[in-house]
Amino acid sequence: MPQAFSRFTCFWRYALCATLWMVLPAYAAPAAAPADALHAWTAGQDPASLETWVSARLSAAQAQVDKLLAVKGPRTVANTLAPFDEAQNQLALASNQTYLLYAVGGSSELRDKAQALTQKIAGVSTELGLNQGVYQALGAVPLPKADAATRHYLARSLLQYRLAGVNKDEATRARLRALQDKITELSLAFGRNVQEGQLKVTATVAELAGLPADYIERHKPDASGVVTLTTDEPDASPVFNFASNAELRRRMFLAYNTRAYPANKAVLMDMLAARQELASILGFANYADLATADQMSGSAAAVRSLFDDLSRASRDARDKEYALLLAFAKASDPGLSAISQADARYWLEQYRRDRYAFDAQSVRPYFAYDQVEAGVLASAAKIFHVQFKAVKNLALWSSAVTVFDVLDGGRRIGRVYLDMHPREGKDKWFSAAPVVPGVRGRQVPEGLLICNFSGGVAGDPGLMQYDEVVTYFHEFGHLMHHILGSQNRWAGQGGFSVEGDFVEAPSQMLEEFFRSYTVLAPFAKHYQTGAVLPREVLARMNAADAFGRGNWVQRQLFYASLSLRVHDRPVADVDLDAQLRQSAQEFSPYAFVEGNRQYASFTHLTGYASNYYTYLLDKVIAIDFYAQFDPKQPLQGSAAARYRRAVIDPGATRPAAQLVKDFLGRPQNMEAFKTWLGAGLGDAAPSKR
Ligand SMILES: [Zn+2]
Repeated sequence: MPQAFSRFTCFWRYALCATLWMVLPAYAAPAAAPADALHAWTAGQDPASLETWVSARLSAAQAQVDKLLAVKGPRTVANTLAPFDEAQNQLALASNQTYLLYAVGGSSELRDKAQALTQKIAGVSTELGLNQGVYQALGAVPLPKADAATRHYLARSLLQYRLAGVNKDEATRARLRALQDKITELSLAFGRNVQEGQLKVTATVAELAGLPADYIERHKPDASGVVTLTTDEPDASPVFNFASNAELRRRMFLAYNTRAYPANKAVLMDMLAARQELASILGFANYADLATADQMSGSAAAVRSLFDDLSRASRDARDKEYALLLAFAKASDPGLSAISQADARYWLEQYRRDRYAFDAQSVRPYFAYDQVEAGVLASAAKIFHVQFKAVKNLALWSSAVTVFDVLDGGRRIGRVYLDMHPREGKDKWFSAAPVVPGVRGRQVPEGLLICNFSGGVAGDPGLMQYDEVVTYFHEFGHLMHHILGSQNRWAGQGGFSVEGDFVEAPSQMLEEFFRSYTVLAPFAKHYQTGAVLPREVLARMNAADAFGRGNWVQRQLFYASLSLRVHDRPVADVDLDAQLRQSAQEFSPYAFVEGNRQYASFTHLTGYASNYYTYLLDKVIAIDFYAQFDPKQPLQGSAAARYRRAVIDPGATRPAAQLVKDFLGRPQNMEAFKTWLGAGLGDAAPSKR
């Protein structure tokens, strides 16, 4: 599959800059702040207004730091941790919203300014993260015996100060700051090259064979009979899945995976060099060891051992699946000797269609965008016991954005913004991002989805693939984690502040809900006839979906090992092309496509750096979590309420491993995952038609 992370992963914006890991979103201003202090876009959406707004946040943060440092006498939570948290809050507001306008802002001038300001804010955060006075002050606060959350906050903040290098001398800290600045700059440049990189692929009308009718309708040939496609998701993804012309798939694959090449190869190498130097100054053998030191995994060695376990558990399934696929493909193309990376999604789709009598296109009429949105909200409302109330007529960055308040027992506890369709200049991926941090009784958390689903245009119902519906719910899972998990005393302990390698567990768990008929049936209705998606179609869809899990795990291992490999050795030993090929050969059964430069658009290398394994670790946890629900009636019983209470509501007030244990009653293990993995290959799979 060309872009293997499409459906199961998203780009968690909060982690974009390595430097921002110190910016724990924190609690609100003590006094009632004017409304626009929480929303950058209300200040006027021009570069100068944004700069003024950001400056006000940075000044507010500095005032809190000054206040903290000026304390005479004994240190307390109130006189030290509270202003520290408020400083973090102001920095988080500033960074969240410059990111927002960087990703979805209406003009390139505004996006440029947002990018520059992001860099500036990250620099201020780095500065605060290396401030010895603040570190010593936090270290002098007596640990409150009765308040485990505050103890955890203090301990984790102090650990992060040490990992940032606060104990180094002034010259060394200056070098650390310079490196962090450079990493931020390079991360932004990398992301922007991908965001704005677009290549065109031309095709004849005949080459569009196999693509959905509405796709062909949207891509008319010009006067000379040439159809122009772009490498943007809505154009590229259907080609990989449905185009029967192998040459078109290959052209699209190469264009898609070189859309930010060669520019990003150099950017990436510079970034790896800066990270390596940073790690060695801090006393780590490599960046991967540094980046895992405060995670659930704890070390790069533990990550490697996770890879071994997962590889062993999934290799047989992968090989069986590939043998079936190849035999199937050979039946229609006897000359074929192997399936290539460019063809994997197509043959998987064809195989599922044939073996399970399931055609992914045939269900699209049941998933028109507006119905899916309503269905996602209704399902989330049931699972989390909340209500959503539409908010109209807000002046936002685009009129295409829809807004809902989140109510819990009638009380407003959050707001979500949904920016769901492509726009010129807008970020092209699928992600969830915090907008406003939350704190109990003071500041209501707000979050945003940035997606690129079809629809949103008059006359286009926005028929979605089932995979896209699942992606929608995945991203919505992040939002709910942010909203519900950010109702704590400290905004620095919101849902998104939990250990980075736990952050994909709640979102991946929600994906599982959409295999249940009781969850889908209320909204999966044919957009023209209103007929409900037949139950037996869902059964076939689930069976088809379960086929290929061995491959999926191995594909994720390919990405995860690439992410680790380029970060766990001296940069002089990094050869991106060789490592891409090596990871592919180790884990992917598909033939490598010459000219593939996937690393140049692998945006997770900026945000997750060495820690792409997060998705795999969290998938294991997610499947373990979901096994606690009744698969036929997941909304029934007490599991959902228990889950919200044990895992989601605490946000980052407890270590992630504790959240897992609190819900499962034990640490996670791989048993449920192994069952899940084999489900598509067992005797239970329905026979053909
Ligand atoms: Zn995600």
